Amino acid sequence: MNTNPSEATAPAYNRSRQAREAETLLDRIQDDFPDNPQAMRYFYDLFRRVYCQGEPVKHEGTLVGTTCIHAPEELIYAFGATPVRLCNGSYHYDQIGADFMPAKSCPLVKATLGSLHAKAAVPDTKSLELIVNPTTCDQKTKASAMIEAMGYRVHDLELPPAKESEEARLYWQRSVRRLALRLRELTGRKLTRNNLRQAMARTARAQTAFRTLHQLRKSAPALFLGKDAFLVTNAYFFDDLDRWTAAVERLNAELQLRQMEGFQAAQKRAPRILFTGSPPIFPNLKLPLLIEEAGGVVVADETCSANRMLYDMTAVDEWLLNDMVDGLADRYLKPCTCPIFTRNDDRQRRLLQLAADFHVDGVVYQAFAGCQVYEMEYRSIADVLAAQGIPMLYVETDYSPDDMGQLSTRIEAFLESIKTRKRNAR
Ligand code: SF4
Ligand code: SF4
Repeated sequence: MNTNPSEATAPAYNRSRQAREAETLLDRIQDDFPDNPQAMRYFYDLFRRVYCQGEPVKHEGTLVGTTCIHAPEELIYAFGATPVRLCNGSYHYDQIGADFMPAKSCPLVKATLGSLHAKAAVPDTKSLELIVNPTTCDQKTKASAMIEAMGYRVHDLELPPAKESEEARLYWQRSVRRLALRLRELTGRKLTRNNLRQAMARTARAQTAFRTLHQLRKSAPALFLGKDAFLVTNAYFFDDLDRWTAAVERLNAELQLRQMEGFQAAQKRAPRILFTGSPPIFPNLKLPLLIEEAGGVVVADETCSANRMLYDMTAVDEWLLNDMVDGLADRYLKPCTCPIFTRNDDRQRRLLQLAADFHVDGVVYQAFAGCQVYEMEYRSIADVLAAQGIPMLYVETDYSPDDMGQLSTRIEAFLESIKTRKRNAR
């Protein structure tokens, strides 16, 4: 029951600024492009119901917020709880976060803390019983105490700054076991081989569906646009796991049909773009959308709101509880290519592999203003790509719509230069 007078007079959610941002974006995604797949309707409707109308997403058991892909979600599901990823892409909440965070903070962290501070209805912050905050970059690490001061329960999931050494691996495995203990305290349930195995099977099915979608995007000409791919993976943050998986399976079936029929979602010569860097998070899909509005097509990405979140699967040698937890911990450390780690040659290798597999013509690198690690890694990535003759556009941006005009001009010029290269190479 709502007894708080300030809440009673608060505007309805569907008139909130976040709802308007979401609506504007969804209108562009749906109306500015012909031939959207029928199966995308599930995702368009889901975002409209949840983000524009404020419809609550039903969840099973305790709701546990996570602030980064390093929080092992299978463990949360195994305790009968439901994870929801709190990383936020709203400019409205970014501005709220700016009121109490340093001006040069990353917009992702500002918006996430802004939404928690405002006790946002979407995501449903009032139902959160715990927030798992992996100690990744400095800003996320420092966020724990601030979130706690807002009245939330926070678990610091301690992540090592390196991922190569055995010491780091053991440190991380212990951290994941500590998280299991905290979840046991929270839910009053026991972790068993059976419930962990079931949770792993559910996420493995979701990952398999994602991998099929990923493979289908190799098709040239493209069958599917990146703006829709990011919407699908952003839905994974909050949607029911099994419903999301079934919707992606339906989308895959439709794309397979498109493939057989020789369908083209973009022009044959549309520049094929690989997207990397700071993650596009709904409703801030500004950059992927600008690329596709300018005639490019985002065919693959290396970001933690899509590929990095879903591609790598857990490998378990022995189906004994401790081995399963260790296998799970490994999956959340080793393959991650986030620049928070001391050495990150893996990211260079992965980008080159994706560029080759998806016949990429160019790379767009998004660095959020205030994110030092992505900014610092830019040079090494640029050098590796240049050595292979792959052009890259580096874009420093934030959640504000103010730079759209300038970004659009730069993207158009980049795509034009790719087209000229392709013409000259013929
Ligand atoms: S950018 Fe890195 S630290 Fe930040 S949410 Fe993504 S994976 Fe986590
Ligand atoms: S974009 Fe950078 S600063 Fe922001 S959460 Fe990711 S690593 Fe941290």
